[in-house]
Amino acid sequence: MNNSTTISRFDVADIRAQFPILNRLVKGKPLVYFDNAATTQKPQVVIDAIKHYYSHTNANVHRGIHTLSEEGTLAMEGSREYIAQYLGAKRSEVIFTRGTTEGINLVVHSLGLFHFKKGDEILISAMEHHANIVPWQILCNRLGLVLKVIDINEKGDLCLDSFRSQLSHKTKLVSLVHTSNALGTINPVKTVVDDAHKAGALVLIDGAQAMAHGKVNVRELDADFFVFSSHKLFGPTGVGILFGKEQLLEQMPPYQSGGEMIAEVSFEKTTYNELPYKFEAGTPHIEGNIVFAEAVKWFAALDHQAVHAHEMALLRRATEHVLHIDGLRIIGEAAEKTSVLSFVVEGVHHQDLALFLDTHGIAVRTGHHCTQPLMKRFGIEGTTRASFSVYNSLDEVDFFAEKLQKTVAILR
Ligand code: PLP
Repeated sequence: MNNSTTISRFDVADIRAQFPILNRLVKGKPLVYFDNAATTQKPQVVIDAIKHYYSHTNANVHRGIHTLSEEGTLAMEGSREYIAQYLGAKRSEVIFTRGTTEGINLVVHSLGLFHFKKGDEILISAMEHHANIVPWQILCNRLGLVLKVIDINEKGDLCLDSFRSQLSHKTKLVSLVHTSNALGTINPVKTVVDDAHKAGALVLIDGAQAMAHGKVNVRELDADFFVFSSHKLFGPTGVGILFGKEQLLEQMPPYQSGGEMIAEVSFEKTTYNELPYKFEAGTPHIEGNIVFAEAVKWFAALDHQAVHAHEMALLRRATEHVLHIDGLRIIGEAAEKTSVLSFVVEGVHHQDLALFLDTHGIAVRTGHHCTQPLMKRFGIEGTTRASFSVYNSLDEVDFFAEKLQKTVAILR
């Protein structure tokens, strides 16, 4: 049987050919990259765009009138425009950040200056990444707010009952992960947004993991804030997007201050720049911001239904394989799940597993995945996580399963 699958208009061999890193050897073996939830690999068009920027355009943006500065500004603003269209947002609502983490911190800091009063409640879930826990926790400690946690069930589904029973007029904000990096759970974000709005709460959605598996329209979702990172979406590291509804961003004070975010400065008074620049102090990651759009364009051009079918085929095959391994327990079996396979194996430490797999060129992630409270919820220290992306093949999954089985037998 030929396992190099071709599904509808989706040809995995063709996709793989666009990722030069997939040709490299690790420990003398072809790289099998299953650490996509941590960061994705970059297609040639993204690598070329980085080279092109530094070979042709490099200059500081916005303030210059010389050709390079104008070209850089046009390219960066063009990227913002494109990403805004892709999200279904206005360009004024799309703020370049350093990533998901900074996007959340921006909202926490800025809303923290005016939106909350002592005793107000913030609702997050038990499956949040530390980036969507710690900033809120710090804010709660500073302002005397209450951080409440939506429970999940044994399979890793969000408990809507737990959400609804804790949602009240005291809830000022709900901050929820769209797709869990540790479990793969896809949350019913639209339901949560609608219910939270009815209760008068704002909603932030952490879209870090969701964006590389399909399109999200922020207007339809109706979340007040939506954050994600370029590097998890085939683009460069150190770049991300905060989407915020215009009327909220207008009310919100700046996060950082300095150059770029001002309209006029005197020693007596400073007025702020218009959106989105009010939230973009200092020289931005110009190359990253420009190339981010190239990555989104690359992904947007794929047949997303076929991408989904392919990733589900990878997940199904991997799940079927690992279920044959004695003592292996899958962590995260939600009804709606993305292509993440997290598991523990009785009597085998996940770090030893990953080290052995690396000797076969297989890259998986182990540990708590920046979700320590979630690991505690499952009574474990950490998991081994294989996360699949568009360029992974069924052959790779079979190879991984075979080596995993052998490794477990050796380590036992
Ligand atoms: N939220 C989720 C669900 C994540 O998976 C991650 C990264 O793994 C983050 C937030 C933080 O993203 P970044 O490190 O790009 O800021």
